[in-house]
Amino acid sequence: MDARLESIKDTVLARNPGEAEFHQAVVEVFESLGPVHDRHPEFLEAAILERLCEPERQIIFRVPWTDDSGRVQINRGFRVEFNSALGPYKGGLRFHPSVYLGIVKFLGFEQIFKNALTGMPIGGGKGGSDFDPRGRSDAEVMRFCQSFMTELYRHIGEYTDVPAGDIGVGGREIGYLFGQYKRITNRYESGVLTGKGISWGGSLVRPEATGFGTVIFTQEMLKTRGTSLDGQRVVVSGSGNVAINAIAKAQTLGATVVACSDSSGYVVDEAGIDVDLLREVKEVERGRLKDYAERRAGVSYVDGGSVWDVDATVALPCATQNELDGDAAARLVRGGLLAVGEGANMPSTRDAVAVFQEAGVLFGPGKAANAGGVATSALEMQQNASRDSWSFEHTEERLTEIMVGIHDRCAAAADEYGEPGNYVLGANIGGFVKVADAMLAQGLI
Ligand code: GLU
Repeated sequence: MDARLESIKDTVLARNPGEAEFHQAVVEVFESLGPVHDRHPEFLEAAILERLCEPERQIIFRVPWTDDSGRVQINRGFRVEFNSALGPYKGGLRFHPSVYLGIVKFLGFEQIFKNALTGMPIGGGKGGSDFDPRGRSDAEVMRFCQSFMTELYRHIGEYTDVPAGDIGVGGREIGYLFGQYKRITNRYESGVLTGKGISWGGSLVRPEATGFGTVIFTQEMLKTRGTSLDGQRVVVSGSGNVAINAIAKAQTLGATVVACSDSSGYVVDEAGIDVDLLREVKEVERGRLKDYAERRAGVSYVDGGSVWDVDATVALPCATQNELDGDAAARLVRGGLLAVGEGANMPSTRDAVAVFQEAGVLFGPGKAANAGGVATSALEMQQNASRDSWSFEHTEERLTEIMVGIHDRCAAAADEYGEPGNYVLGANIGGFVKVADAMLAQGLI
């Protein structure tokens, strides 16, 4: 790493002890930015990088609620309002027992660059809680969401900070959160949250957008090698919203998705995953993949283990951070891998990324490849602001244009800085320059 950036990095890491995921995200970005600072010494003079790594505001709060047996439960809530140079803070809420400040900060930091790459007027933020929705009744989830919003409402707003979903937060949770915001504020402020239901201010294509966008980005990468998804053998990790919609889109484009996973194991379905059955099991019944295997002939279920043991030409990690390590990457490369599109945030470890890049595998980092979700959130905000609602076709067309635009912006930045095909470099530089220019213009704040 560039010596000037190395010392800023040391300062940032020392200021944020014990936050491994945040450190990982910061180091990865810093490694791309040396050449940008050669061309733009003004960014260093204005301490843009050091400022960018310090969130504008961090909120941590108590979330008390009662479970179905009447017992009092306490969770911790977070909202990190990271950067508002380009627009109101924008980013999801994650409800998962692993959530702590370091996870929220890594996600918020990534979100700054991702949102900049979309070309939409949105800043970066993220939030969540260590609450575990698994095994909780609808009534418990509702009481939790109401309590969470009873503190969060004072920090958010259409022009301030616009949360959405992430792991553990889907349409059900956004509904409860929106209801409580409306009740407390007595305002029907549609643009305060995205991922809403279609009859009350949501956007068509928002549920599909992250998975669809990841596949569109991957298709664009494959085109640069004169190929496409048609006929590819795809492995997807995860079986939540992002994974399901990535599977659906990849198969629409002619690929066969032969495996996907959940936290207990994975299924191998050589005929191609049956998306309708997968949706029924995971989204309607909130069940396990094991149930999918039991209901479909010719499917094998592997308890535990790693889905990355299954050979593929295209891998779409859509589960969670650091789910794909260097060993798994090396195995995939030996199995004939051509391309990786990250549907999750930072699912590949730094070792894995190095293995992919050394092997010449096309690698689309999450902050570019999975930006379709937040981009469609920005389209939802646009529809809310104009009190309009667009057709599925029109919205999907906009999503496709945005994903192709992100791909081309990353590719152009990589070319400009002498590393054609390096989408990690392209995404980091493309996102950074846009935010840095805006921060410079807005003065020392
Ligand atoms: N959680 C999603 C992401 O990681 C979407 C955020 C949003 O729509 O605001 O980008």
